[in-house]
Amino acid sequence: MTATKTRLLDNYVGGRWTPAAAATEELDVTNPSTGETLARVPLSGAADLNAAVSAARAALPEWRAVSTIARARKLFDLRERLVARTEDLARSVTLELGKTIGDSRAEVGRMIEMVEAACAVPTTMQGRVLEDVSRNIDAETIRQPVGVCAAIVPFNFPAMVPFWFLPFAIACGNTFVLKPSEQVPLTQQIAFEELDALDLPPGVVNLVNGGREVVEGILDHPGIDAVSFVGSAPVARIVYERAAKAGKRVQALGGAKNHIVVMPDAVIDQTVSGIIGSAFGAAGQRCMAGSVVVTVGDAHEQLMAPLTEATRALRIGDGIAEETDIGPVVSCGARDRIREWIDRGEQGGATVVLDGRDSEGDPKGSFVGPTILDDVTSEMEIAQEEVFGPVLSVIRAATLDDAIEIVNSSRFGNGTSIFTESAASVRRYRHDVEAGMIGVNIGVAAPVAFFPFSGWKDSFLGDLHAHGPDAVDFFTRKKTVTSRFFSAGQGSGKYFVEN
Ligand code: NAD
Repeated sequence: MTATKTRLLDNYVGGRWTPAAAATEELDVTNPSTGETLARVPLSGAADLNAAVSAARAALPEWRAVSTIARARKLFDLRERLVARTEDLARSVTLELGKTIGDSRAEVGRMIEMVEAACAVPTTMQGRVLEDVSRNIDAETIRQPVGVCAAIVPFNFPAMVPFWFLPFAIACGNTFVLKPSEQVPLTQQIAFEELDALDLPPGVVNLVNGGREVVEGILDHPGIDAVSFVGSAPVARIVYERAAKAGKRVQALGGAKNHIVVMPDAVIDQTVSGIIGSAFGAAGQRCMAGSVVVTVGDAHEQLMAPLTEATRALRIGDGIAEETDIGPVVSCGARDRIREWIDRGEQGGATVVLDGRDSEGDPKGSFVGPTILDDVTSEMEIAQEEVFGPVLSVIRAATLDDAIEIVNSSRFGNGTSIFTESAASVRRYRHDVEAGMIGVNIGVAAPVAFFPFSGWKDSFLGDLHAHGPDAVDFFTRKKTVTSRFFSAGQGSGKYFVEN
């Protein structure tokens, strides 16, 4: 193994690559397709976080004074740089996470779209003015940056999820501290190489590698004003409660259990392809993964044979090989946990139609094959808990009403899809289903950068969603000014109307 492959990653603080001087531990970053060690990541300590927050606070006055269009221009430049590094970023995602290279390129495309959407800040950050709210008195609301903003992100989108926040935060004049997932810290090293090349004032963006200690430090730190979190539901709750208690603005996106309802009039071949992409794409490690299919009426009979056949044909292997359909899951720990979920589903009464427990794939890697469990009921644990792997449960419902009841019985409410050609069924579903993001004949209904992204119920704690117009609301504070000037007289004379 070469020295570069086992390099210890640095943090990026105050405009410089900086060793994590207070690190308490180091972890291996592993390629889950092969088991190879790619690098080592430090779990930074309190002093490392303090240094990043101090740098971010110190940069605030200078950065918020930069004109809005000049801040946007930095993002134009970043956009060009990321486009030029697309293949490096995508390969990095695949090497550290295992996702297929096609999925990784798509993720990097989504990452870049976030930067493009943030470039609209000279328009999106505008306030409101109303003349003559009372006689000769005007009111205006302006938006100002919140201050130092931090994001804590999960392993499953190492390129895109940090960029749900970073470009919007700095576009609005905030400074930023990112804590990537310690399982996949490499891709943000590349992103920060490009941020470094922008010549931003030192401290505008900072990267602190680490785990729980850094997260807890962020939640309690008096120098941090806003926290964005994406990850599992239990940690989202801890983050939301602790950061709010410390008086911070907070948005916490949690776990999911997403349902795909298939009506008897669905176009079956398109539905099969939508379900496969949703359930098994990224090896099921998406918060928008469809992990439960609810068939209505005779949709079950129409769907199961083609779905099983097409799933069986998926090629499992190293994510970097262009022909691979399903790569490994992120780690051996995740693989073992997912296999246990399949055992528990079977013990709970599900029928294993396709079994991925002993999948082929490099034995040094962490592979689970695509798995289909039939005869699942909504009361079963496998129907309610997030598996976060390539495991699809199938539940039968007699009517659309029953299907909606099953979907709404989940404590999560992230995304859901319906496959049907009936506008009336879609109208009913859209109206009654309790989820934040809905797909109609689309398996992964993840909103694009210029629309807000987030779920309901246990999938989201907070008020303002990620990206889209909500991002500007989250990353700005409103200030309303009511004003009059005595020397301005009584208005412009003949047009002035007394109230
Ligand atoms: P995770 O909750 O284990 O980790 C997320 C982040 O929190 C990481 O940076 C980690 O270092 C930190 N963390 C973990 N445990 C902690 C603890 N006890 N205290 C403080 N910090 C802690 O999540 P993950 O396994 O990295 O990601 C998968 C989860 O993320 C899934 O549940 C998935 O549904 C969810 N997710 C949700 C969305 C969404 O938009 N709702 C998007 C992507 C992923």
